[in-house]
Amino acid sequence: MYYQKILEEIIEEIRPTLGEGAVADYIPALAEVDPCQFGIAISTMDGEDFAAGDAFKPFSIQSISKVFNLALAMRLCDDDLWSRVGVEPSGNAFNSLSQLEYEHGIPRNPFINAGALVITDSIISRSSEPVDVILEFARSCAGNPDITYDEEVFRSELAHGHRNRALINYLCSFDNIANDTEQILTTYFYQCSLAMTCMDLARSFRFLANAGRMPGSVSPILSSHQTRRINSLMMTCGTYDEAGEFAFHVGLPCKSGVGGGIVAIVPKQMSICVWSPALGPKGNSLAGMQALELFCQKTGLAIF
Ligand code: GLU
Repeated sequence: MYYQKILEEIIEEIRPTLGEGAVADYIPALAEVDPCQFGIAISTMDGEDFAAGDAFKPFSIQSISKVFNLALAMRLCDDDLWSRVGVEPSGNAFNSLSQLEYEHGIPRNPFINAGALVITDSIISRSSEPVDVILEFARSCAGNPDITYDEEVFRSELAHGHRNRALINYLCSFDNIANDTEQILTTYFYQCSLAMTCMDLARSFRFLANAGRMPGSVSPILSSHQTRRINSLMMTCGTYDEAGEFAFHVGLPCKSGVGGGIVAIVPKQMSICVWSPALGPKGNSLAGMQALELFCQKTGLAIF
């Protein structure tokens, strides 16, 4: 009940600021979401779940899906992956084109759009039905067979994803794409359109807090070495060009998405997911970031 009380305190403290910021409107389907919603959920290593607010409402996970994709790619591919994508924070917007020019077509990291497109490409090279494989992976991590893609969000991105189309063509010019560009874009837009709840996401990412293994499971999803790498990338690159602010104020590996969700990992203890659609100027949920900071202050949990 300790954690339940903390989650409820956080909601009370956050409530007056809900709706500050702006929902992502470059994807028209996301522009219609009520900005004042707020949910928070945690799932612990001992199998306890705690939730408050809109924690059971599905939302568009957007870039949080890049964690699923990276984990899948690390399962399917060898270390060659890292010759096609870097591991440095970008310090630029997540959909920046210009950085690719002076980095010779090697995206800075797997969590910016250019990097995620390369990761999706590598999954396509190793699976015949990538859209199904990604959905099944998300469902099995969450332990929820009802998770689906949101077709409206998918179609909205497919129709308006001009920047991602530009990015993938630019990557082709550097010979860093192996498959059909439309198939990669379709797969990428589907992964971004996954609709999941805070509780689904908190459960899904427990393996990242537990050296690659879901609590209670015998077969690991990733090795502890691979898991450490994902956590490090989340810490340094998981929250766009605001990763320094997150490290400073929150101090946990996090991954955010423009749908307003943020997942955070407390190694050996729990996974947390918070969601509120109104974003700050860098694309991170304003209330979400504030809630994670409050959670760490109140519990004293942080990796440093
Ligand atoms: N689907 C979004 C895009 O490609 C993801 C952005 C995000 O959540 O960072 O623009």
